[in-house]
Amino acid sequence: MNPIGLYLHIPFCDGKCSYCNFFSRRPHTGAFEITEYTEHLISSIEAWSRSIDRPVDTVYFGGGTPSLLGHERLIRILDAVRRSFYVADQAEITVEVNPSSTDELDFVLMKQAGFNRLSIGLQSANDNELKLLGRRHSADDARRTVACAQKAGFNNISLDVMLAIPEQTMASLDKTLAFCASCHVQHISAYILKVEEGTRFYQMKDQLSLYHDDEQAAFYEHTVGKLAELGYQQYEISNFSHKGCESRHNLHYWHDDEYLGLGPSAHSFIDGKRFYYDSDFQRFYENQICDESDGGDSDEYIMLALRLTEGLVFEKYRERFGYPISEKMISSAKRLEQQGLCHVSDRSISLTVKGFLVSNGVIAYLLENT
Ligand code: SF4
Repeated sequence: MNPIGLYLHIPFCDGKCSYCNFFSRRPHTGAFEITEYTEHLISSIEAWSRSIDRPVDTVYFGGGTPSLLGHERLIRILDAVRRSFYVADQAEITVEVNPSSTDELDFVLMKQAGFNRLSIGLQSANDNELKLLGRRHSADDARRTVACAQKAGFNNISLDVMLAIPEQTMASLDKTLAFCASCHVQHISAYILKVEEGTRFYQMKDQLSLYHDDEQAAFYEHTVGKLAELGYQQYEISNFSHKGCESRHNLHYWHDDEYLGLGPSAHSFIDGKRFYYDSDFQRFYENQICDESDGGDSDEYIMLALRLTEGLVFEKYRERFGYPISEKMISSAKRLEQQGLCHVSDRSISLTVKGFLVSNGVIAYLLENT
């Protein structure tokens, strides 16, 4: 039985960042609602464990702001996961932490309870950029959070960084990347700012000095080069790490493996079916599942594999589907190779940095020509 990843969504934040369209909000009744949600999440974990007999090798507390729950509730939830599922000894157990909400956390107790990876939302080491993004912490807060976690024994820490923030310059981006390296973290996720509908940035987009596509590309290419110099190897479009510190939970998604997602807005892929919970507390509490459809076909596998720097590995594809990649796709990839968008070898097709910047178009082209 292949192990699954378990994703637990914590839909609370202490405010809304200007660019964010994740499902999260302030708890209406403070600690009371947070405790109520914790109880529902634990009941959901227990109920699902009765219908899914699969080991779990990664657990990911995402949000929202899981750190708002405080260590006691987080540990209670993790204990419920361990009681309900077989959790592998070497499981990767991640919790997202916001530097503005660490007063509630005792990292020593969390480490003892089995948490072994933190993903910390830094976004920028420049306080003017943090303010513009609507973040509620400073760069110093983030540094203190990392130091405190390291002192407690966490040695697998990721920082999130945002690219092409209005007001960002190459120099200020360099400062952010150097800040990450100076914190001695093992992993960095770097995403280009996207202005999504429903966000504060979307409402004020005409007043923002947003960067154009070619300028965003320059920030991205600069980041890839700079992080390589700083010792972080790219392994996915937006993810970089020291060797052996890739996010195992996210690799489940990109390898098109199965996972269970619990909480409003969480998605799952179990026993070949994809489904999700709506962005609604009550419907999650009533276990109303949406849109059950088939998943895991070869197009989906190819699309996800091409996000990784290792790309689409022919042998893995053959093992998974029992037949080889089509010659037609390899010929199409060779045409893209001439434009510098991908590499084609005897064993794989993988996108170049230039290809990653237009990955949707490249992948669509390859899928149309299989
Ligand atoms: S802390 Fe994270 S989830 Fe919450 S509003 Fe900001 S970006 Fe969104």
